[in-house]
Amino acid sequence: MSLSIETIIKYERPLPRYTSYPTVPFWDAEHFDAEKALGVLRQSMLTKPDVSIYIHLPYCESLCTFCGCNRRITKNHTVEQPYIDAILEEWRLYQLQMPQPPVITHIHLGGGTPTFFSPSELKRLIDGIVGRHKLSPIYEFSIEVHPNTCTYEHIDVLADIGFRRISVGIQDFDPRVQYIINRNQTFEKTRDIIEYARFKGFAGVNVDLVYGLPLQTVESIKHTTEKIAELMPDRIAYYAYAHVPWKSKAQRRYTEADLPSAREKIQMFLSARERLKKLGYEQIAMDHFALPNDSMTKAWHSKSLHRNFMGYTTDSTPLLIGLGASSISDFNGNFAQNYKEVEKYLGEVKAGKLPIERGHLSSEMDKLIADYIMQVMCTGMVKIPTDALSKEHLEFIANQLQNFIEDGILTWEGESLQVTELGQLLLRNIAAVFDTYLFYKGLKENMFSKSV
Ligand code: SF4
Repeated sequence: MSLSIETIIKYERPLPRYTSYPTVPFWDAEHFDAEKALGVLRQSMLTKPDVSIYIHLPYCESLCTFCGCNRRITKNHTVEQPYIDAILEEWRLYQLQMPQPPVITHIHLGGGTPTFFSPSELKRLIDGIVGRHKLSPIYEFSIEVHPNTCTYEHIDVLADIGFRRISVGIQDFDPRVQYIINRNQTFEKTRDIIEYARFKGFAGVNVDLVYGLPLQTVESIKHTTEKIAELMPDRIAYYAYAHVPWKSKAQRRYTEADLPSAREKIQMFLSARERLKKLGYEQIAMDHFALPNDSMTKAWHSKSLHRNFMGYTTDSTPLLIGLGASSISDFNGNFAQNYKEVEKYLGEVKAGKLPIERGHLSSEMDKLIADYIMQVMCTGMVKIPTDALSKEHLEFIANQLQNFIEDGILTWEGESLQVTELGQLLLRNIAAVFDTYLFYKGLKENMFSKSV
């Protein structure tokens, strides 16, 4: 049974992206205790010292108007040194918490624009983080780059210090779309950076694309996918544009009339999906495509894909330390977020304090539901709950799952329910039926972007 556009539109509604559970708007900030969260970190490291590290580098030279990230726009590069100093100090403060030296499994530099920073500052950062610590045998260092600020020297230095995966922001190659989102980026510059990274030994090239941007059309998406065919990245993150003007003022520079309709958005996704499949890509979960040999494809097939605040990942380390302004740490399902405002972040670190502003300590029920939701989001398999959920929630789940089956979104495979290939686009909708916070508290206005 194929899924019609009408059926997909029927499920369009504001929903969480489930990069964590509970989702951030439902965190219980009032009862959060940073010391208890750090206690989980200490306890977990006693048995296994593996840690994954995310470092947020928030600066960008110019503002892309569609952007919903936590970023700071400036052309003043004197901000680099004090910011890197603060991250290294924050890392030192974390090490004081650790019962034994960490084994580093992953480092991911995200932003903002990590390549806003000079190659020498990035090298100072990574040298300071790694120090004399052990690296896991399967370690991976990865970085998000903007081709407009990424130089060959950046690639040389990153390759020398162990980076092997590069994630290139593209969004769209259509000049009209680039103009309205204020992100003028040539195909040639993008291609040169990717080719040079491959030449320098980067084994994984990811690109980020977005559908549903202002002025985008099915035709303009075809233009972009033909350009992608020339680049053949290993992975493509193909995100639905999240229209959240209440949160991101830059998005008010265009109106809703400039945005494609839900129908057009779905057509864009389906058109790109068809072309990418012909090129040999597989759709991975909700919004990724990858070549058969990529580790993400293998993780999808072996049902070992994971999801964290950066989105889908092959990283299974249960301890994620987030460094930098706004970063979120995940200590075995307990969350701690740093101050978002750069000055506040710098001030706390300077005062010798870990700059944690808020977070959430998960209950046993939270962990149980998180398990259901992450299984849906990362494997497309649905576990039928038989446990501690309330009778009314179980009835609601049963009804919703039946609707998904009737609409061709889920299908029985033996004893369990599995999402259909086109139903993968609606994984957020399936996951949401298990969300007890949504079930009992409901949605408030302007909480989440739309699911399609
Ligand atoms: S999309 Fe990236 S480069 Fe553009 S403003 Fe946002 S964080 Fe900066």
